[in-house]
Amino acid sequence: MPASLPGSQNADRPTRLLTQNSEMRKIGAWNWSLPALAVRLADGRAVKTCPSAGVCAQACYARHGTYTWPVVQAKHRANLTFVLDDLAGWESSMLTELSAAKFHGAWIRIHDSGDFFSDPYLLAWLRICHARPDVNFYAYTKEVDRFRRLVEPNPPANFLWVYSYGGTQDAALDPGVDRVADVFPDAQAIASAGWASQEASDLLAVLGPRLVGVPANQIPAYLKRLAGRRFSEWQAEVDAERTARRHLRLAVDNTRPTTKPRTPDHVQTPIEQQEAA
Ligand code: SF4
Repeated sequence: MPASLPGSQNADRPTRLLTQNSEMRKIGAWNWSLPALAVRLADGRAVKTCPSAGVCAQACYARHGTYTWPVVQAKHRANLTFVLDDLAGWESSMLTELSAAKFHGAWIRIHDSGDFFSDPYLLAWLRICHARPDVNFYAYTKEVDRFRRLVEPNPPANFLWVYSYGGTQDAALDPGVDRVADVFPDAQAIASAGWASQEASDLLAVLGPRLVGVPANQIPAYLKRLAGRRFSEWQAEVDAERTARRHLRLAVDNTRPTTKPRTPDHVQTPIEQQEAA
């Protein structure tokens, strides 16, 4: 793992990694956050922090309101920079912070915004979970393949997660087996579908029934894009359109004349003679 950066760059590092807003305080939980979706850092690096985001990016709660405040964005960028530049140092700082008495028995929501954007980063979190068995961790994630490979075979006992719809890996989810969260237009739509809302407490996403309904943020522009659909339905439409376009492209390609090299004794058909003329 990379070594710590020289002191001048370390000075930009966040002194506290975990934060707590009023919602989290009510349920005894703390947040760890990264920039939502993608970011360009001051040094020019472009980083996708939600590499499997799909339609969710068009109605992302974390790209709106207080999340856009410069001080909040700067904190999230500093968190990400720490992880990218010194994963071992970040892991050590997180372990030190989590050893404080106030975190014993508490919940840590990994990613108020952002996602497990790489294997090494997810593996670092798994080591942290194992090393702090007296702390509880939970997360929403769209990194289905990464979790299937790295988490599902041997998950830490103190780490719970829910797969969330609206990502490019939705098709890999099985709502008959997986714990899944879907964003619905409103609470009524959740109830009508027979899913369980997590509105009373975010912890219900991992402690309540397996089919988790999340009411959409009542942001007019987002609701307009959602157009009465669930994230899963919206993403399925986008995926179907993309598949149809791919099939159309393939069909068009198949109508083009072949460029396959001819053998020396190949006798041209009349059409090939016309094309060659
Ligand atoms: S995965 Fe979450 S934080 Fe990332 S773009 Fe989608 S809704 Fe936003």
